[in-house]
Amino acid sequence: MRMPTCEPARPCPSRRSPRRSPGNPMTNTLSSYPPEETWDHVESLDPAAWPKKVRRAHRLVPTTCFNCEANCGLLAWVDKNTGKITKFEGNPVHPASRGRNCAKGPATINQVEDPERILWPMKRVGERGEGLWERITWEQALDQIGSRIGTAFREDRHHEVMYHVGRMGDDSYMERVLHSWGIDGHNSHTNICSSGARVGYASWMGFDRPSADFANAEVIFLISSHLEAGHYFNPHAQRIIEGQKNGATVVCVDPRLSNTAAKADYWLSPWPGTEAFLLLAIARLLLEAETWDATFFERWVNWETFLRETRPDLDCTFANVRQALIDQYVEYTPAEAARICGVEESTIREVAAVIGRGLGKFASHTWRASSAGN
Ligand code: SF4
Repeated sequence: MRMPTCEPARPCPSRRSPRRSPGNPMTNTLSSYPPEETWDHVESLDPAAWPKKVRRAHRLVPTTCFNCEANCGLLAWVDKNTGKITKFEGNPVHPASRGRNCAKGPATINQVEDPERILWPMKRVGERGEGLWERITWEQALDQIGSRIGTAFREDRHHEVMYHVGRMGDDSYMERVLHSWGIDGHNSHTNICSSGARVGYASWMGFDRPSADFANAEVIFLISSHLEAGHYFNPHAQRIIEGQKNGATVVCVDPRLSNTAAKADYWLSPWPGTEAFLLLAIARLLLEAETWDATFFERWVNWETFLRETRPDLDCTFANVRQALIDQYVEYTPAEAARICGVEESTIREVAAVIGRGLGKFASHTWRASSAGN
């Protein structure tokens, strides 16, 4: 039986018969991957043996990239003779990354092959900083660490136990573990990074990493050193580009000419720290033009509390909310925003009009920056 092959001289079956990837409504452009049903046995030429044509058989094993929190799908090409991973490529049927990885994904092979990779627990035997370690077993490591934590708890020294989260984000599970231990010792580098945005998201919608429906949006509003310009969320970036190809207008608010700003339809570069003023000026314009999403606001925002706290002189009915907000935002005029933020007034008005026209199909994201409170 002829096995599937991906040698360059003979296009692989999927090249001859482009197929649609699940989760990819766009196209059938991912045509260079061997078809999923052949992953147990894929033959290809060994590039290291060139110019000889040496065929190797691989099993393609789905896994994930651990080089950032996007957790894109990968396929590990496992040599069926040696059992070793030969390379990593994207996984075309992964629902988020859909086979499109950044360069760090295939570079995962360097971690597998890294001669300095730590394969077992090491315990310090010298002074801190001396760099002296001895190898211990997993059982020893778990016993020693567990007994120290247990002793601290038995002696009511709960505050001496803390946990520092790394990658990947195991936050939800570890939160439950830490709470069951009765401690609040969760630390993360995000305390000085994305926490400003995440606190806002968590209090606004109960989840700190939302994914807006970028692919189906009409207006995509990205502010700060957000996921798409920063270090991860390739799956978001793909869908933003899809949305833009489908006609969405991309607005990027960033003091820097970031990658996203370079591809945006509007690049607003306010003075760092003035973003909130800019946003409130846009909000005011939307309210004035009555192009705000009143239905959404009425359904999801606690406007009753807002009215009671800020405008006890008004009846607590939704009909009063719009004017109360305009009154509240009285100082945030486009002219004043232009002066404070350093963005042209006409641009602010234009962007507000664009947002207003995309009512109900607005997707936004913010992450780390002064706008996010850090
Ligand atoms: S964006 Fe790149 S580094 Fe991050 S998970 Fe995907 S392939 Fe890996």
